[in-house]
Amino acid sequence: MIELKNVKKVYKMGDNEVAALGGVSISIADGEFTAIIGPSGSGKSTLMNILGCLDTPDEGDYFLDGTDMTKVSEKNLSRIRSRKIGFIFQQFNLLQKLTALENVELPMIYQGVPAKERRRRAMESLERVGLGERIHHKPKELSGGQQQRVAIARAFAAKPSIILADEPTGNLDSKSGAEVMTILHQLHESGNTIVLITHDSKVAAEATRRVRIADGLITSDDRNGGAA
Ligand code: ADP
Ligand code: MG
Repeated sequence: MIELKNVKKVYKMGDNEVAALGGVSISIADGEFTAIIGPSGSGKSTLMNILGCLDTPDEGDYFLDGTDMTKVSEKNLSRIRSRKIGFIFQQFNLLQKLTALENVELPMIYQGVPAKERRRRAMESLERVGLGERIHHKPKELSGGQQQRVAIARAFAAKPSIILADEPTGNLDSKSGAEVMTILHQLHESGNTIVLITHDSKVAAEATRRVRIADGLITSDDRNGGAA
C-alpha cells in the first residue's frame, strides 16, 4: 500500500545543501507495524513528512494506495492527507482551545463525517485510550501521557490508511511511554498500519519490522521471524 522508490530530498539554505534523503526505497504492506530507527539528523522526520504528504520528494516516486503522490496537486494532496493519514507527534500538537473531544473530532470535520457519527467515533476512541472520563478537558488540564493518548485517539478515530507516529514517547516519562506503546500495539492488532519513527532501539523493538536509516539511506530492514 505504501511504496517509495529511490526518494531523494535536499534542503537548500543559501549556498548550503543538506542531502536529507539520498535515495530511499521501501514497501510497507497494509497492517504492518514498522519502526523507522536512526540517530538524530539521519532523515527520519523528512521521511515521515514525505510519507504523510506534508512534503514532496525532489526525486523518486511515492505510491500511496496506488496513487502516485508526486503527481497530485497541492489541493488534492491535502485532501488525501486528511482522508488517509493519522499523525502522532512528539509534541502532541493538540489545539489548546479545544477539549479532548473537539480535538478528536477535528480531522473528521475535514473529512466531512456527519456530526452525530463524528461524536460517536470520538467518544468511542477516547474511551479506548482510557480517557472516557476526560473528554471535556482541555490539553493543559491533562498530563503529557493523557495528551498523547488524545492525539492517538484523534489519529485513529478518523480511520486513516496509515498512522504515522514521530517519536511519540519522546516527551513522556517511561510509564506514560509504555502506555502509549501498549495502545499502538492494540491498534496494530486490530488491523491498523503503523509507522513509528524513533531514535530509541528499545521502542523500535516493539514493532514487528525495523528499518534502520543513517545519513539518509536505509541500512537494514528486519522483521520479527519465526512462528507467531
Ligand atoms: P531526524 O528526524 O532523523 O533527526 P531530519 O529529517 O529532521 O532528521 O533531518 C535530516 C537532515 O536534514 C539533518 O541534517 C537536518 O539538519 C536537515 N534538515 C531537516 N529539515 C531541514 C530544513 N527544513 N531545512 C534545512 N535542513 C533541514
Ligand atoms: Mg526528527
